[in-house]
Amino acid sequence: MPAVFFGHGSPMNALEHNRYTDTWRAFGRAIPRPRAIVCVSAHWFINASAVTAMAQPRTIHDFFGFPDALFAIQYPAPGAPWLVDEIAQAAAPVWIGTDEDSWGLDHGAWSVLTHVFPDADVPVVQLAINAAQPFEYHLDLGRRLAPLREHGVLILGSGNVVHNLGALEPRLETEGFEWAVDFDDEVARIMTADPSELPGVRLHPAFVDAVPTPDHFMPLLYVAGLAAAAGETTDVVVDGYAFGSLSMTSYALGGPALADLSGDGYETIPDPSVVPPSDTNL
Ligand code: ZN
Repeated sequence: MPAVFFGHGSPMNALEHNRYTDTWRAFGRAIPRPRAIVCVSAHWFINASAVTAMAQPRTIHDFFGFPDALFAIQYPAPGAPWLVDEIAQAAAPVWIGTDEDSWGLDHGAWSVLTHVFPDADVPVVQLAINAAQPFEYHLDLGRRLAPLREHGVLILGSGNVVHNLGALEPRLETEGFEWAVDFDDEVARIMTADPSELPGVRLHPAFVDAVPTPDHFMPLLYVAGLAAAAGETTDVVVDGYAFGSLSMTSYALGGPALADLSGDGYETIPDPSVVPPSDTNL
């Protein structure tokens, strides 16, 4: 089974059709049907590595200031409590907690999955990001999850390589600041050459601007770890920028041919309404 990291950007992508969402859809159509999905979302950032273990995870609308249509979205995919032991065994001796009744599917998961698997018929587990751990821990944990790929589980990271909400510039609808482009380019160089080197990117001069908090970056470390475990590199499946300080670059490991992931001809139609108020959690 491939593994993938998608730059999710604004939650409005759940409702929109653009070249990013087209790529997500094309990816879902091009890969074998997964037995289950393990989703590492930037928006479940807690003090432990843990997985959701409920049979029917709720759809969490973890944002403010967006249209009612976004709050109306439900993504009713089943959970996969039967997968929890398999994840824990793969991760050992790293400890993985279980969450029976707290979390569910946050918008980092469902804003993407609603395009990748629109029928919501593939079971989904979320794997929380342990905020207390360094990049090396997440790379290593990703590496440990490699056996799941052999058993039909799609590991999907959802975040953004460059994610600085404080620097958003609404006039730069589809552009990136120079520092954002520099950092995104360096990450692309690493992910297409030697993903095991990804933790070292924190020495890049633009790191503090591109990654002011690590939550949106860390999901990529899981895909980098999986690539390292396989001795492979990843492909850039789509790239681009939003509002200067977000990059939408996405990476696939062992994925379908890039030609199969090109969009269906949609142009990105920037919508000024997607720029959220400053208290919004993108
Ligand atoms: Zn986000």
